[in-house]
Amino acid sequence: MVSTNTLYEVDLHCHTTASDGLLTPKELVRLAAELGLKGIGITDHDTIQGWKEAEAAGAYYKIQILKGIELNTDWRGTEVHILGYELDGGSDYFQDKLRSLREAREQRMLEILERLAKLGIEVCENAVRQLAQGESIGRPHIAQVLIDRGFVRTIREAFERYIGIGAPAYVPRYKLTTEEGIRLVRDARGVPVLAHPGMQRLEEGISTWVEVGLKGIEVFHSEHKPEDETRYSAIAQQHRLIMTGGSDFHGEARKPGVGLGRWGVSLSILQQISKLAQSFKYSFNDQE
Ligand SMILES: [Zn+2]
Ligand SMILES: [Zn+2]
Repeated sequence: MVSTNTLYEVDLHCHTTASDGLLTPKELVRLAAELGLKGIGITDHDTIQGWKEAEAAGAYYKIQILKGIELNTDWRGTEVHILGYELDGGSDYFQDKLRSLREAREQRMLEILERLAKLGIEVCENAVRQLAQGESIGRPHIAQVLIDRGFVRTIREAFERYIGIGAPAYVPRYKLTTEEGIRLVRDARGVPVLAHPGMQRLEEGISTWVEVGLKGIEVFHSEHKPEDETRYSAIAQQHRLIMTGGSDFHGEARKPGVGLGRWGVSLSILQQISKLAQSFKYSFNDQE
């Protein structure tokens, strides 16, 4: 086990079984407590389903929970991930938007299964659903079922032979544009943060995204190299954006070597984000 002195106070990028993580929200919070973390951000893909359980566990284990989400968006053909923190999960607009994103995911899964069937590979819808457990069904779940059924040996093979870009059962997914993703978070009174920009070497779009309301950049991330950290801290300072960080924890078996709290920031960053989100909520109430 990693000794706690190598860990950050908070890890602001964690997935649970509500999307494609391996731990339930409660298990994740308990692990954070065991490691001695002071807070975590719950950032499941396109769903806020894990919030309630995480908050209850956070109160029990005395861990601060930053309620977040990770949205897949498209910027000129590049996949850009936007994290949204402390959104108003109850807003009708936000709920409607999340629902249509989930429906698009479902629809895509069914289309992929149809295409696989045409190739002679019968994969039962329920097997994928069962594996997904939570709400957000993704291609990794389909790949896992293909492995379980013996059609392929690895996730990579599943993508290369069947469901990846250019493969016969590939179906493109509906995506929000990056601007729409940022606006969606702001409309729900949350704090939008650009996730792991080093993975896609993003730079060009950042000033446009700041104009539509981007408030932070995830400078510290398990896939970032030291030069990414340097580069994106400079960009964050230039645009006066909050520098956030997290491991992108999915569970050891799903993302080996990406340990909870191994990437992150200090507690003051978590507090800064939640204060900013609160100021958005107050300014909204004032206008009413
Ligand atoms: Zn991501
Ligand atoms: Zn993530």
